[in-house]
Amino acid sequence: MDNLSYYDLLEVPKDFTLKELKASYKRLAKIHHPDITNDCPISEEKFKLISTAYQILLCPIKKQEYDREQSGSFFSEFSFSMNDLYSNTASDIFNDSFNKHKENLEIIDLNISFKESFFGSKKNISFFKTIYCSSCDATGSKDKKLRSCPKCNGRGKNSVKSGFLEAEVDCEFCGGNGTIHLIKCDTCDGTKKIKSKESIEINIPKGISDGDKLKITIDDLNTFYLKLHIENDSDFIKQDENLFKQIDLPLTKAILGTHIDLALFDDTINVEIPKNTKHKDLIIIKDKGFPSINSNSSYGNIVLEINIIYPILNEENLELLYKLDLNLNKS
Ligand SMILES: [Zn+2]
Ligand SMILES: [Zn+2]
Repeated sequence: MDNLSYYDLLEVPKDFTLKELKASYKRLAKIHHPDITNDCPISEEKFKLISTAYQILLCPIKKQEYDREQSGSFFSEFSFSMNDLYSNTASDIFNDSFNKHKENLEIIDLNISFKESFFGSKKNISFFKTIYCSSCDATGSKDKKLRSCPKCNGRGKNSVKSGFLEAEVDCEFCGGNGTIHLIKCDTCDGTKKIKSKESIEINIPKGISDGDKLKITIDDLNTFYLKLHIENDSDFIKQDENLFKQIDLPLTKAILGTHIDLALFDDTINVEIPKNTKHKDLIIIKDKGFPSINSNSSYGNIVLEINIIYPILNEENLELLYKLDLNLNKS
């Protein structure tokens, strides 16, 4: 298993598309996920390897680094820290299933747009709020009166003996309340609380990621998680706080250098493409990526990967190219 390349592990060709990579990772990670394989150690090991391979191949910078290492050339031509660009991992797809047993709170799903996750937004949430029953003044009793529990004499606790040991436990007759009702309230069925459909406005902070959960506490009876589902952007792929996009660039523009306009929400960023830009080169636009959820002033980067488009040449173009070839290669 150890000798397989990351490409072999993920069963993708070297020139994979992002769609192929994601689909293959999802498929393989599901097969080897510890929740599914009942914690089989071999599968767990494979799951970890697949996740690592996915994180490396998903990030164009880490992928270049990996390819260089594989070909035996270890130097790095990037002056910035890779950790600055792509910290954390990309295997969040499965975090939910690992964390699902942590806290038993209701989870309300909310869909938001990519733009809303970038700028933050206000959203109205409809939910069933737990409130105290007004029909019985939150006594649970039809006549709004509570009687002292006859089993525990209103103490809420009873003593139990086991051999020489004696312990106090909650009274099973009154549930530890010390009081009982003779006829239960019809509205709340004796539970003292009812559910009422309500709507509240919630501030969604900027920089939120797909799958993030916000813990919302309204009062002592109402706490829930808001789980955010963010629609994919047609232009950019978000990786942590960085935005990644492939740019098609005509060969001549790549050689001569050019400027391109990059649309980002309501903004247009003018990007300089330097002379002699090569296929798969990365152009980094600092601090124009997603806002950090942890800091108001920190932003990720935009990373553009250049995809060079070769021209289709007519007779006249070819003639010029022959002349250029002669000129370039004259001794
Ligand atoms: Zn009792
Ligand atoms: Zn009631």
